[in-house]
Amino acid sequence: MEIAFIDLKAQYKKYKEEIDKEINEVLESAQFIQGPKVKALEENLSSYTGSKHSISCSSGTDALLLSLMALDVGLGDEVITTPFTFIATAEVIAFLKAKPVFVDIDEQTYNIDVSKIEEKITDKTKAIIPVSLYGQPADMDEINEIAKKYNIAVIEDACQSFGAEYRGKKSCNLSDIGCTSFFPSKPLGCYGDGGAVFVNDEEMAKKIKSISIHGQSRRYEHQYIGINGRLDAIQAAVLNVKLKYFDEEVKKRVEIAKRYTKMLEDIVTTPCIKDDRTSVYAQYSIRVQDRDSVAKKLNEDGIPTAVHYPKPLHLQPAFSYLGHKEGDFPVSEKISKEIMSLPMSPFLKEEEQNYIIEKLKGIIK
Ligand SMILES: *Cc1c(COP(=O)(O)O)cnc(C)c1O
Repeated sequence: MEIAFIDLKAQYKKYKEEIDKEINEVLESAQFIQGPKVKALEENLSSYTGSKHSISCSSGTDALLLSLMALDVGLGDEVITTPFTFIATAEVIAFLKAKPVFVDIDEQTYNIDVSKIEEKITDKTKAIIPVSLYGQPADMDEINEIAKKYNIAVIEDACQSFGAEYRGKKSCNLSDIGCTSFFPSKPLGCYGDGGAVFVNDEEMAKKIKSISIHGQSRRYEHQYIGINGRLDAIQAAVLNVKLKYFDEEVKKRVEIAKRYTKMLEDIVTTPCIKDDRTSVYAQYSIRVQDRDSVAKKLNEDGIPTAVHYPKPLHLQPAFSYLGHKEGDFPVSEKISKEIMSLPMSPFLKEEEQNYIIEKLKGIIK
């Protein structure tokens, strides 16, 4: 059996008629940048997340970048995040000439270890970027409380957790700023690059929107140094359709994840989701000993796997200038050696999942 890691083809097939129609409307209108589809998407995103303002943008990376720019983060500033994430989280900090300050993760949830944040705060700290990894929100209330005490901002990197819930609220709307990605393989994906920033503060919303359009306040009047960070109308059209079915898809993801957990928890370490929150399972990641050889054997049976992430950021060549060494963030290092993501999508069929479980059980006895 050949299994897709994420079945985007089956998804398109299901919504094809509506998506094609929406895309065609954009083509006919020739309004490719901004326009009614983008406006409708931003309204839909706000009603979905409960966030007062949603600003669509060109990617999750740019959502993070726009947020830091709006907070005037730059040379001499420090921003706290974890080394166990996709590089974009820390890359944007460094791109603005600020310093990424890493805090290790919790061994159960793989999200930032809140008990280790305060010791890293200095008078240069401008923001904390907790990552809601694999789709499960970080300990946002505790993080917000720490940030409030030191008067620093909290940006949730919700690039994997759009749709997740935390204490009755939606991810993306759990702190000063929330950022998400609509990269095709994320839980809510478009057909190219895309992202969004979420804020409740009106002034902040205006500033972020402006920075995403070259710092423009009116046409050819530039108040800030900005970027070209807009979302295409075609991508907005795709997202408007997919958002309608998103809750159904999340429900399927959770069912599939629960089934994996039930069948696998005796032989591997399965995800640990806290009682006061949900996960949208951007990844279904387990921990196994001898990970690379298990992955190889699964692959030989037609089962693709992935590693999110094989090398923590503090050990990446791009961040060598920070002067970190092996052993600095032991939990991140340990998890990066054991973690492995299994195929996950709302379109994974029961017989496919049975096959994956059966093969995995045959390898790890
Ligand atoms: C995907 C991702 C990003 C970047 O999003 P893009 O849309 O690919 O730019 C940032 N942070 C995390 C945690 C991600 O998973």
